[in-house]
Amino acid sequence: MTAALDIAGIAVSPDHYIDGRRVPSAERFALHSPIDQRLLGEVCEGGEAEVEAAIAAAAKAFPAWSAMTAAERLPYLERFAEEIGRRAEAFCQLESNDAGVLLSRMQHGVVPRAMLNIRWFAQHALDLQNRPIETEQATHRVRHDAAGIVVVITPWNAPLMLSTWKLGPALAAGNTCILKPPEWAPLTCSLLADAAHAAGLPPGVFNVVQGSGANTGARLVADPRIARVSFTGSVPTARRIAQAAGANLVPCSLELGGKSPFIVLEDADLDGAAATAALMYRNAGQVCLAGTRLLVHERIADAFTAALRANVQKLNVGDPREAGTEVGPIIHPRQLERVAGFVERAVADGATLLWGGARHAFGAQYYQPTLLTDVKQDSEIVQNEVFGPVLTLQTFSSDEEAIALANGTDYGLGGVCYGETEHAAAVAERVRTGFIWVNSFGIRDLAAPFGGIKRSGVGREGGDWSFEFFCDVKDVVLPR
Ligand code: NAD
Repeated sequence: MTAALDIAGIAVSPDHYIDGRRVPSAERFALHSPIDQRLLGEVCEGGEAEVEAAIAAAAKAFPAWSAMTAAERLPYLERFAEEIGRRAEAFCQLESNDAGVLLSRMQHGVVPRAMLNIRWFAQHALDLQNRPIETEQATHRVRHDAAGIVVVITPWNAPLMLSTWKLGPALAAGNTCILKPPEWAPLTCSLLADAAHAAGLPPGVFNVVQGSGANTGARLVADPRIARVSFTGSVPTARRIAQAAGANLVPCSLELGGKSPFIVLEDADLDGAAATAALMYRNAGQVCLAGTRLLVHERIADAFTAALRANVQKLNVGDPREAGTEVGPIIHPRQLERVAGFVERAVADGATLLWGGARHAFGAQYYQPTLLTDVKQDSEIVQNEVFGPVLTLQTFSSDEEAIALANGTDYGLGGVCYGETEHAAAVAERVRTGFIWVNSFGIRDLAAPFGGIKRSGVGREGGDWSFEFFCDVKDVVLPR
């Protein structure tokens, strides 16, 4: 076992967690904080031996864990949620330090949600085996049996939230899991192993193998003993994962990027729309479901822009650990270069900068909230996900045009539509995305489907959709 890292007084293991114990490996990678680039420590990189050990442990644990009823698994998962709660402050500090997520968001949003992710699916698994279909001829006892070993791969922008969002239903359904955390923000996933251990999850039921995507992740998803891959991340990675898993005919759930429209109709509440649009800069725009393409009716565009400017000027850019900060750092120097490059090329291509467009004085890895207008629909900045604090603004003169612009990218994750309620709902229904908020943003429920269409993803997670994915569904037919 390697000595724990000390992050703001919180001890966290840099090791893997396999078969119920901490496992070190010789290969390591350096981890830096996006807040001030300080070295947080070195984290283990899983290679062939660690991947093999994790798969063997998960395979060994599967028969007993999957043979339990959901009611028998429930107390384990209740304790898992409790142990997450017991470590709430540590989770908040770790993810704020390694991912740059706002501490306030961790405290009030992410940690309670992580607990709920485990609890809610454990509860909702209770009726999984009790969904018969009655016909004149027969009773069909539809079973939802655990599929086997599940590999969970998550991105750096929301490691704790997204890992528990997948682990909750996967474990509740009786699968055994191997989590491959994001290498730019691996610490809360490591702490999750401590919580699972303290909760008494049997060895091998939940494993964590740290490491890079190209090495550790690629080894895991290519293994034919895996039953499911649940992935959230970028489109290029999804293609690689789908190819590797496809070779073994292993189902993948792919939650990918977005370039979601934020439509402001002529009859919208402008102040409400502008206040919500300013939220798109939160977490420095590193939010998959952010509405980053502002589509505004031409008659209200000037008034909306002025209202948005007033909101943006009030945004507090700074250290994510400070109360009151609203826009934190960009995760990595490479990501900052990428964001800056998008903006430079857009301006060179004729776009007008309404505000921002440069690094922020607060620190080396901070970028100013930015708005570009005079952008062409087929331009790079409109068509590609920036994943930074950069919005574009286009105008339209009719609902038809707004819908055409909204649907005119390869992405289809989410959307926002502001306007008179029924008018906005009618427009929202014609936008081709996995979900869309009317006169609101970010309302989520664990029972509701979540996922994207087109290049934003394959499959749905949430509620029954998660169980459909993580289970082998079987029809046991009893004739009358
Ligand atoms: P990424 O695709 O680079 O990495 C995601 C994860 O995949 C990481 O853990 C990485 O190590 C792993 N990985 C990389 N190559 C791999 C391979 N060949 N095999 C197996 N695993 C591999 O994405 P990122 O930069 O970490 O995250 C940002 C992206 O995630 C954005 O596109 C964002 O929109 C998306 N995202 C989507 C959602 C959603 O719910 N739809 C939520 C959050 C983020």
